[in-house]
Amino acid sequence: MDFSLLEEHRMLQETVRRFVKQELMPLEPLVLQRDTQGLTGEDLLPNDVEDRLHARAHEAGLGGLDVPEEFGGLNLGTLPKCLANEALHHTITPFTFPPDAPNLHMLMQTCTPEQREKYLLPYARGEQRSAIAISEPGAGSDPAGMQTTAVKKGDQWVINGRKIWISRAHVADFIIVMAVTDKGKGSRGGMTAFLVDKGTPGLVLQRQIPVIGSHAPWEVVFEDMTIPDSQVLGQLGHGFAPMQLRLTVRRLEIGSWCVGMAQRCLDMMVDYAKQRVTFGQRLADRQAIQWFIADSATDIHASRLMTYHGAWKFDNGEDVRQEASMLKVFATEMATRVADRAMQTHGGMGMSKELPLEFIYRRLRPMRIFEGPTEVHRWVIARSLLKD
Ligand SMILES: Cc1cc2nc3c(=O)[nH]c(=O)nc-3n(C[C@H](O)[C@H](O)[C@H](O)COP(=O)(O)OP(=O)(O)OC[C@H]3O[C@@H](n4cnc5c(N)ncnc54)[C@H](O)[C@@H]3O)c2cc1C
Repeated sequence: MDFSLLEEHRMLQETVRRFVKQELMPLEPLVLQRDTQGLTGEDLLPNDVEDRLHARAHEAGLGGLDVPEEFGGLNLGTLPKCLANEALHHTITPFTFPPDAPNLHMLMQTCTPEQREKYLLPYARGEQRSAIAISEPGAGSDPAGMQTTAVKKGDQWVINGRKIWISRAHVADFIIVMAVTDKGKGSRGGMTAFLVDKGTPGLVLQRQIPVIGSHAPWEVVFEDMTIPDSQVLGQLGHGFAPMQLRLTVRRLEIGSWCVGMAQRCLDMMVDYAKQRVTFGQRLADRQAIQWFIADSATDIHASRLMTYHGAWKFDNGEDVRQEASMLKVFATEMATRVADRAMQTHGGMGMSKELPLEFIYRRLRPMRIFEGPTEVHRWVIARSLLKD
């Protein structure tokens, strides 16, 4: 067993760390200021700053990391993408190397040659943004219970229904919409994915919902939204499996986000403990704080290994659904514990919006809900172990 990273992976890690230090860290005061003003998501950075960052990332060759060469990417795989994500999440400045979400993996499995030209290639190049609409008011953890329907009329599909909590719906050039095409079959042959372009008549962005953290997802309604048959993504009735693949990749990525955020909290805790003196002694000399630090370092180490292992296994074509569930549970809870310890160590400053800790703590909270709540993942893990 060899735990060392390949040279090309280490070089990528170094490049991303440099990008974070030079480009993203200096923007943190601006992000904190805009967060305090109530701005969220994409608005945490002004458009011109975001454009500049994308240009710099492009210059540094930091796009399409996990995109296969045939689609114009670097073909490095999921492990390097996780390494890059870990380094990126050292900072609270929100930035993603394109493409913006693991929808790539769903598209790669399903696109027709025409869809490849229109959606996959521009998306892989970072020229288009995407969203995915699965959750509904009555079906979140259990997407098999979704009610949105797509009915074939001639060579068109008419979609009606309501989705909720859809991240980036307002900036997406296209949304992957999951809908029921055969009620009798449900998730086993009755659920289909559709590509829906921004501005399609009948696609209504109903309201943006402010939530804890830096997200503000959307409620989206489809009112007799009519799209041509060519917008079916993948095999009719079989949208569930590619959607699950996409969720699995995101769960691995969330592991790497959590490791990056927790590492930042630990670094801040270590620095502060060495400076801050109370009752004539440094915090670093107090066992209570030493244990915070030791437990956090141990937590991070375990999550990092779980992330790298899951990503490596995925890159080797193995089924990692179980590992991804374990990681999603462990890493999100781990980072919450570490952020909490860091805030406690900083005392009043830990509560303040002048330091990134409070921002990180809020950002972590919804991660125990989206891409499947913690309890559902625990249930899934146990169910597979307990089955006869
Ligand atoms: C910030 C944010 C962004 C999101 N982005 C997207 C997006 O882009 N696209 C999208 O489609 N969705 C998105 N979601 C939706 C998210 O995936 C769902 O909220 C999540 O799956 C939970 O569904 P629910 O809210 O309906 O909760 P429910 O399914 O009602 O569950 C409520 C709670 O019940 C418990 N529970 C449920 N089932 C079980 C079980 N089997 N065993 C034990 N306990 C259980 C859990 O504690 C769970 O938190 C987002 C959500 C948030 C908060």
